[in-house]
Amino acid sequence: MPLVEIRDLVRQYHKGGETITPLGGVSLDIQAGDFVSLMGASGSGKSTLLNLLAGIDSPDEGTIHVAGVEITSLSRSRLARWRAEHIGYIFQDHNLVPVLTAWENVELPLLLVKMSRTERQRRVDIAMQAVDLADRAGHFPRQLSGGQEQRVGIARAIVAHPTLVVADEPTGDLDAETSEQILGLLGRLNRELDITMLMVTHDDHAAATAGRQLTLVGGKLIESGRETVAAVDAVAAVAGMGETSASRDPS
Ligand code: ADP
Ligand code: MG
Repeated sequence: MPLVEIRDLVRQYHKGGETITPLGGVSLDIQAGDFVSLMGASGSGKSTLLNLLAGIDSPDEGTIHVAGVEITSLSRSRLARWRAEHIGYIFQDHNLVPVLTAWENVELPLLLVKMSRTERQRRVDIAMQAVDLADRAGHFPRQLSGGQEQRVGIARAIVAHPTLVVADEPTGDLDAETSEQILGLLGRLNRELDITMLMVTHDDHAAATAGRQLTLVGGKLIESGRETVAAVDAVAAVAGMGETSASRDPS
């Protein structure tokens, strides 16, 4: 059984008499240990899919099983508890709390789960080491570079040993060299700690560092190995969307 099993997911928004359907029947399996990238034009529904998978939003139709649990049928309070235990979330702008040190920011998710103080300290120390920031533990976010802040965000996402880590454009705010370091770190965490990861990105190069590449287009999900790029373009043309592989910058 796959770790994540998404079936026929539909999410629509109604705004001023108009209906938009960012997800029009999306199905996806993610195996434990997968590193999956999710691309798609701006507004194609990438964050919507991520937030459904993270239990932050609920779908209009369809099911999401994570490690055998059907999360779309959980009550609000059970979903909140499930999320704290099972999901690590990496934000584009890292979302660190400015008045807490790096160490305290990483500790936060563990305050939501039952755990002894000693175990909590041990976990935070290990997570800080995993992102190579043990020597910056006492620094406040404003005393860190953008790349270091994002590494604190990554440590916070993995500290509770979540079932799944989701990242929404984790390198979107970073320069090329720092992006490279962050992508390298995510890849290493996936390979060495076997962390299952779904990463939204609009960057072809970032997507290529993942083991699997998915693209959202016209409300549908396409698994795009090189051979299916043509299929993505065909769907994009039908959906009347601008970008095709031919129009993409080749660099
Ligand atoms: P992406 O992350 O791919 O850029 P999103 O998932 O954020 O796209 O959004 C997909 C579409 O759904 C967009 O057209 C967006 O404006 C719309 N949308 C997202 N959230 C809401 C909401 N809460 N209410 C209304 N429309 C929304
Ligand atoms: Mg988004």
